[in-house]
Amino acid sequence: ATHAAIEIPGLGKITVPIGLFINNEWVLPTKGQTFTVVDPSTALPIVDVAHAMAEDVDRAVHAARAAFETTWGNNVSGAHRGNLLNKLADLMDRDVATIAALESLDAGKGISVATSGDVPESANCLRYYAGMADKVHGQTIDQFGGKKLAYTLNQPIGVCGQIIPWNYPLMMWAWKVAPALAAGCTVVMKPSELTPLSALYMCDLIKEAGFPAGVVNTVPGLGSTAGEAISRHLDIDKVAFTGSVATGRRISVAAAESNLKKVTLELGGKSPALVFPSADLDQAANWLGLGIFYNSGQDCCASSRVYVHDSVYDKFVSLLKLKAETCKVGLPSDENTSFGPLISAGQRDKVLSYIDSAREEGATITAGGKRWAQAEGFFVEPTVLTDVNQNMKVVREEIFGPVVAVGKFSTEEEGVHLANDTPYGLAGAVFSSDASQVTRVAAKINAGTIWINNYCALSNGVPFGGFKQSGIGRELGTAGIEAYTQIKGVHHNL
Ligand code: NAD
Repeated sequence: ATHAAIEIPGLGKITVPIGLFINNEWVLPTKGQTFTVVDPSTALPIVDVAHAMAEDVDRAVHAARAAFETTWGNNVSGAHRGNLLNKLADLMDRDVATIAALESLDAGKGISVATSGDVPESANCLRYYAGMADKVHGQTIDQFGGKKLAYTLNQPIGVCGQIIPWNYPLMMWAWKVAPALAAGCTVVMKPSELTPLSALYMCDLIKEAGFPAGVVNTVPGLGSTAGEAISRHLDIDKVAFTGSVATGRRISVAAAESNLKKVTLELGGKSPALVFPSADLDQAANWLGLGIFYNSGQDCCASSRVYVHDSVYDKFVSLLKLKAETCKVGLPSDENTSFGPLISAGQRDKVLSYIDSAREEGATITAGGKRWAQAEGFFVEPTVLTDVNQNMKVVREEIFGPVVAVGKFSTEEEGVHLANDTPYGLAGAVFSSDASQVTRVAAKINAGTIWINNYCALSNGVPFGGFKQSGIGRELGTAGIEAYTQIKGVHHNL
């Protein structure tokens, strides 16, 4: 089947798409295979979704190529592409209750977080790039004394494969699809096999908004099947990926070994925060509690390593402990929930095993540390670890869960050194009321995003991406659309 009726808390029974979306039509996978999507808050199955194999990805690429050559790309104006993106954003506003309920069910997010955060922020990302679609300009270089004219054209790259993770299924969809469409590229999208429902729902809105057939095609499936097929496909011009470093590496190799397709990678992090004695400690604990416990810690920018100056360490730890203990843990369908389950049993067990390793290596579990026992789903308590050192696994490796390791430093130089002692470089933060200190330290932390006396803020206009092994390329801002264009230099003898 391409559609199924599912029970959604708060909405009752609704029919949702579960097929492949190719050429603006719902179709079945060639081999008829499916995979099961599970509700992380109950551990019960939600629905079986079509599983795309290499032949299905191939069908999607053909559709995307045909659209790129005829009804999209350089065949339509940027203003037209922008208008369609704006219409799509308006349809998201209209359907916010359904999209938020699907996202909450599938990814385990609190319903009020999905309604006031994920859905409107994703729609705003579409609007941001809608406004940029007719502003992708080249340059006029020189007229060489009237004998020659040289200029550049910024042209869309072509057919783009997009592979996204499960932690922010809709937002990652918007970050990928919006700039690609604005630039004039066509898309073969593979949502995570753990959270395909919002990306599938968006397909009907794409059609309703009036996008030509083949501009956005969606092929749910596993990484080892649909994901590999995208990264190895000879007629995909670029692959854009968000997910783990290990998978990013594989995609990079597959892209290089196939047709050397262009690659952008948004990968993991182990983001440090430095708390200096002059910081407002209450505010620092608020921000860093949000930084590690938002989305139950399943955030690539999570503030998972906090280093606090010796002189304020005990005070800060007691404030952060309070944040952990007062998190609104609960079922995603409860309006008050800000902290839901982890995405899967595997992810829960991985997080618990990191906590075990911390205990074995001598860390102190200051808050949390266990399964949250009040529901059947994949919950882990908000957890604060102290008495940590740089050699511990919990300090070195990305946990991707609600676990923060709080260490100490005594000089600014030592703090910066500890912050940079990692192969990652996605984000970092500095808390201090000394203006020259925050400016100095922000420049020294090797990461793509730095927050000064705050955490988590992202803006469509500000480029986002990783230093070191946290990635290649940038999303958002003008850099985000440039990543879907290529520059052509034109020499015209007059
Ligand atoms: P993952 O790498 O396992 O999966 C991400 C996506 O890649 C999924 O759609 C998956 O099906 C696909 N995939 C898996 N194997 C593949 C392969 N061999 N070829 C092609 N595609 C493949 O990551 P995850 O577990 O879904 O997400 C968690 C990780 O993502 C964390 O490490 C986190 O730090 C990272 N992440 C980074 C960002 C960022 O913006 N930098 C954002 C969110 C998550």
